[in-house]
Amino acid sequence: IPSHCTAYNCTLRRKIETSKLGMTFHRFPRDYGLRRKWEAALRREGFAANDGWVLCSDHFKLDEFDRDGQVCRLRPGVIPSVFNFPAHLGRVRARKTMTKQP
Ligand SMILES: [Zn+2]
Repeated sequence: IPSHCTAYNCTLRRKIETSKLGMTFHRFPRDYGLRRKWEAALRREGFAANDGWVLCSDHFKLDEFDRDGQVCRLRPGVIPSVFNFPAHLGRVRARKTMTKQP
């Protein structure tokens, strides 16, 4: 049973505590194209997901879940977007204006 979140810097495992917090674990999608997008989102070089890999619910936005049923699912086509990457892996953001020191 997969229980370890694949995301960078995320060491959450399936525990009683995490289930109490409403945390869920989600397998990689079977759809090849979507799976590639998940892998890209994880930003792991040479990373190829297998069926044992999961991501925890921390990496998805709240509105990306379908909680209507008894089981919390991801909505179709959702790509994980919430990660705690170190700065050097972060996306290029709007440049901050450099303030020159006198
Ligand atoms: Zn995680």
